[in-house]
Amino acid sequence: MDFHALTSLDEALEKLADYGSDATLVAGGTSARYLIMSGQITAKAVLHIERLAIGSHGGLSGITLNGGARLGALANLRDIAEQPEIISRFNGLATAAGKCGGWQTQSIATLGGNVCGASPSADLIPPLLVQNARIELHSQARGSRTVALGDFLQGAYKTDRAPDEMATAFHLPAPPPRSADVYVKIQRRSAMERPIIGVAVRLALDENLEKVAEMHVAICGAGPVPFRATQAETLMAGNAATDEAIHAAADAISARCTFKSDARASASYRQAVLPRAFAHAVSLCTAAIAGF
Ligand SMILES: Cc1cc2nc3c(=O)[nH]c(=O)nc-3n(C[C@H](O)[C@H](O)[C@H](O)COP(=O)(O)OP(=O)(O)OC[C@H]3O[C@@H](n4cnc5c(N)ncnc54)[C@H](O)[C@@H]3O)c2cc1C
Repeated sequence: MDFHALTSLDEALEKLADYGSDATLVAGGTSARYLIMSGQITAKAVLHIERLAIGSHGGLSGITLNGGARLGALANLRDIAEQPEIISRFNGLATAAGKCGGWQTQSIATLGGNVCGASPSADLIPPLLVQNARIELHSQARGSRTVALGDFLQGAYKTDRAPDEMATAFHLPAPPPRSADVYVKIQRRSAMERPIIGVAVRLALDENLEKVAEMHVAICGAGPVPFRATQAETLMAGNAATDEAIHAAADAISARCTFKSDARASASYRQAVLPRAFAHAVSLCTAAIAGF
């Protein structure tokens, strides 16, 4: 296996163009290293892109806020968890970053690695989905393109990334007025690992703060790929966030889920905990909008 430690985006794109599907990108390496060592990735070349985060390539790791946000694909998770503007405007994303593994993992793991790994239980994906995030990709042959994150994710560990492309940034539009977003991660006590279930909710209330103007909800850990539960979103919109409305929306979310047992939890536990996690997320959002 060839190993290339790359120092510029041009160099990375050139190597990707040369090797195509024979190459694997490694950013923080917190997932990729295990996959390579265990033989689950058998590429001819490892393209190490972590150093693109430093020096004049800061755009690949930088976080810029201007109503919405642009986050470089190499932004590390601790930076996202600790950035005050991300905490106040995209709270769910900051929470997910601060709960992804332990402090050591967060210090080297990247946003691009979390998303492009496309794990069914990737913590950072639901908070990006509820913000209508778009992913920006670059290739030497075709330049850049952006894709809605929901379209980019195509199945368990599968994405729309072409072999010669690298993810370079994530774009989040400005959230609506009178809105808040949260991420609720259900995990074993003190575990520094992927979630049993993850629920991201972005809730916007009407001008009287009485009815739901818009709700976005995204789930991980309950299907081959993290997803938006659009039927539940439609049920909540225009209604007060009563217990009945929340129950009906939770039922619609559950109907969209595939609950499976694994080393972390049983299918029945996942099924039982999801409605509670969702109701908790909605109550956290309404409290945040009301300023509690
Ligand atoms: C102890 C431990 C605990 C963990 N806990 C969690 C957890 O709680 N929640 C969770 O979601 N994950 C967890 N993970 C998995 C992992 O740490 C995260 O998913 C992390 O964000 C991956 O980022 P990375 O930079 O290390 O990616 P890498 O391991 O470098 O890469 C992951 C995948 O993404 C691809 N990739 C990386 N960057 C790019 C890019 N810019 N463009 C295109 N493709 C790219 C790689 O080719 C690879 O397929 C854990 C891992 C460990 C070791």
